[in-house]
Amino acid sequence: MRTKNFMLLLLVLFTTGATAQTNVKSASNKISRPKLVVGIVVDQMRWDYLYRYYDRYQADGFKRMLTEGFSCENTFIDYVPTVTAIGHSSVYTGSVPAIHGIAGNDFIINATGKTMYCTEDSTVSTLGSNSKAGRMSPRNLLSSTIGDELRLATNFRSKVIGISLKDRGAILAAGHSATAAYWFDSNGNWITSTYYMREMPSWVTDFNNKKLPEKYLKQDWNTLYDIKTYLQSTADDTKYEGLFEGQTAPVFPIKTSQMFAKDFGILRTTPYGNTLTFDVAKAAIENEKLGQGVVTDMLAISLSSPDYVGHKFGVNAIETEDTYLRLDKDIGEFFKYLDAKIGKGNYTVFLTADHGAAHNIDFSKDNKLNSSKWSGGKVQREMNLKLEDEFKVKDIVLSMMNAQVHFNYKVINENNLNEEAIRKICMAYLKTQTDIAFAIDLNNISNAAVPEEIKKRVINGHNVHRSGGIQLILNPAVFSAGSSGTSHGAWNPYDAHIPLVWMGWGIKQGGKLNRPTNMSDIAATVASLLSIQMPNGSIGSPIHETFKN
Ligand code: ZN
Ligand code: ZN
Repeated sequence: MRTKNFMLLLLVLFTTGATAQTNVKSASNKISRPKLVVGIVVDQMRWDYLYRYYDRYQADGFKRMLTEGFSCENTFIDYVPTVTAIGHSSVYTGSVPAIHGIAGNDFIINATGKTMYCTEDSTVSTLGSNSKAGRMSPRNLLSSTIGDELRLATNFRSKVIGISLKDRGAILAAGHSATAAYWFDSNGNWITSTYYMREMPSWVTDFNNKKLPEKYLKQDWNTLYDIKTYLQSTADDTKYEGLFEGQTAPVFPIKTSQMFAKDFGILRTTPYGNTLTFDVAKAAIENEKLGQGVVTDMLAISLSSPDYVGHKFGVNAIETEDTYLRLDKDIGEFFKYLDAKIGKGNYTVFLTADHGAAHNIDFSKDNKLNSSKWSGGKVQREMNLKLEDEFKVKDIVLSMMNAQVHFNYKVINENNLNEEAIRKICMAYLKTQTDIAFAIDLNNISNAAVPEEIKKRVINGHNVHRSGGIQLILNPAVFSAGSSGTSHGAWNPYDAHIPLVWMGWGIKQGGKLNRPTNMSDIAATVASLLSIQMPNGSIGSPIHETFKN
């Protein structure tokens, strides 16, 4: 027994030592850190895209990361719903909606019934455009980010910048104390908000004056290679794909030159969106001198175009394949730029995704795979009729946002209704719906007969003040979507299994980790690598297998 306890103690000491491992060289009198940390979040990148198009990737993009870097092959999103705002918040806070408060792209504040966009902030104004698209800030995010912790650790000498076509992809990644976050306005300009600064830096204005969106869109979008070589995708013209305005068929070449005059926003749904995002990233490195000072800087890049392309065309489209082949080239060129500017081995990159995507519903059906469309609106109407029968009050269910039943607390309180009785009626109705695998009453989740893994993700995703009271888990491949393209938001592997690849300073070369890891481990891993404190809501653990030492 004694020997066993001693062995256990040794084991504990050993594991604790390994977890607390940092990259500080004991002999050195200075802390060792990379010059720059670059986070790349590819919006809607399923894990399998690393391999689905692997044979066609070039040596210096995704393949370089996999051979020179370290891949955590089984990284899962440890909450539902799997959407963009939550993904970016969770990657950079190492936390989950229950704690960091970003409960959806939009969420409902239970105390008021008001719907809130994740980054909306009416107290700030736009810089760089006359539109309202800049009235945004990270105020709704309740936890610190890894960038905030880096700023705190260096007494705010580190610069931290977020860049994304989407406001939420830049703002929620960069954090509260960020130097800046920049996002794309439909007028073709990169903008920010007065939350970060009083005046737009002149380099951003100069960048906008180059009119790159116009230059790119004038080139139209044709396939990178001969269209006959896109063997991983269905034919070009299918009913599973959406149309751009003015198009009669979803086919190449896509004449973006004839479309942008009305709205530069179409750039988002082309691979040029990724190229332009890297252009701004390079301009930020040049002009803010990121990675060129005495302390570590951080650049959070989010590539939104794969999400817009995926929503419009779906997983199995030539448009999607082409977007990844072109993204691979852009990533390769960006790494070459970093090698020259910051120096190979002086920067650390991680690449991940905010969520994946399901296959198009009709495409699945046509190939004998189970799939069907789900309507939250219908469920809401039917539940409200049942509740009205019982309580003689209308609209007790306020919304089905994020596949959650949101109760109308204004109506419930005004009429002094019994919330538990309401929940019971809803649960009884939801159990009759065959598309719903589980309806989970968050007040009674410990008694729910639901697989532990799903239960954990539901609890992690539920914010008491900002989430609905009942979470629905639908059958696999059942989701709300139009007839073309696709969507995401569920716990299933197609949405929740994400890539996580590390490369550069402090990272082991050429390895793969197969044990399961979580999205919430990413921030803790960066913190450990940099020898800085984890974000204040972090629940993750450092993935120490990725470390070189
Ligand atoms: Zn997304
Ligand atoms: Zn999306």
